[in-house]
Amino acid sequence: MLLVMNQNATSEQIDSVVSAIKKYGYIPRPIPGGERVSIGILYNKGPVDGSLFLGMPGVKEAIPVTRPYKLVSREFQPEETIIRIGDVTMGKGHLTIIAGPCAVESETQALTIANQVKQAGADLFRGGAFKARTSPYSFQGLGKEGLEILAKVRETTGMPVVTEVMDYENFDLVEEYADVIQIGARNMQNYSLLKRAGKAKRPVLLKRGMAATIDEWLMAAEYILEGGNSQVILCERGVRTFVHHSRNTLDLSAVPFVRNESHLPVIVDPSHAAGRRDQVIPLSQAAVAVGANGLMVEVHHAPEEALSDGAQSLYPEQFEKLSSQVRSIFDLL
Ligand code: PEP
Ligand code: MN
Repeated sequence: MLLVMNQNATSEQIDSVVSAIKKYGYIPRPIPGGERVSIGILYNKGPVDGSLFLGMPGVKEAIPVTRPYKLVSREFQPEETIIRIGDVTMGKGHLTIIAGPCAVESETQALTIANQVKQAGADLFRGGAFKARTSPYSFQGLGKEGLEILAKVRETTGMPVVTEVMDYENFDLVEEYADVIQIGARNMQNYSLLKRAGKAKRPVLLKRGMAATIDEWLMAAEYILEGGNSQVILCERGVRTFVHHSRNTLDLSAVPFVRNESHLPVIVDPSHAAGRRDQVIPLSQAAVAVGANGLMVEVHHAPEEALSDGAQSLYPEQFEKLSSQVRSIFDLL
């Protein structure tokens, strides 16, 4: 249930509605809006009787919330969430491009790519310091050294950095260095990690699990918002299907669907969806055309030497082309 207050409701009126909600054994969650305050009712076991609150001074409407996810839904918050990361804005009216290698491999590698993608129009730099690899024999990332390199990239280029946290143990460390904390597809339902992300002081980029339904994905985001962090960016990165022509299948219809269901920004990662370089530009164009708020693209200055995901990494010249094309598509729309 969402209680919508009158535009001119006083703070005393809001406080008494909050107390009444508590009196009935529910948890109130005031949501400040552009024009008026709404108060969400959480932790109700069954339907809430709206008439309990409708007669109270300042209450305009009681709207039943039909979705299992509450805080992430448009029913709770119709206005789109806008996320600010330094000088970069994500959400409504902006197309934000995150680019960089799969993994941070060395200072020279990271700085070389960072300068190239910045030049080509990237807003944020990405690079994994802790890598989730299918094989324990594959490169696992540089760990803390990788985070220090990312800090150097930020300092040198001015670009905020996005990097993945893989486990609860390293959360504090990653939070100290990252501007945006990424939770990967394999960890989308790691609930202790999601709860910790709810306490984080930084925006969280939550990837869709490779076999997750939209409901499961949004419920994962709900954990983070419920924990107190409303700065969540959703990232569609392809789901596992039966095809062999791409690594995963990019679920483009998820973008308009989720943007309609939720107020959170939705971006697309065409690189992990495709798994191969030749599909990354067309999928990026399509993603922007269906309304993505941004892209996250893997780029490497020497993909044949990359320690992970070289086959899907764009050459810097290709990224430059992608960046200018998708910005034209975005402007046209
Ligand atoms: C990544 O972004 O490098 C990554 C591992 O992505 P995903 O979690 O989507 O597989
Ligand atoms: Mn990768």
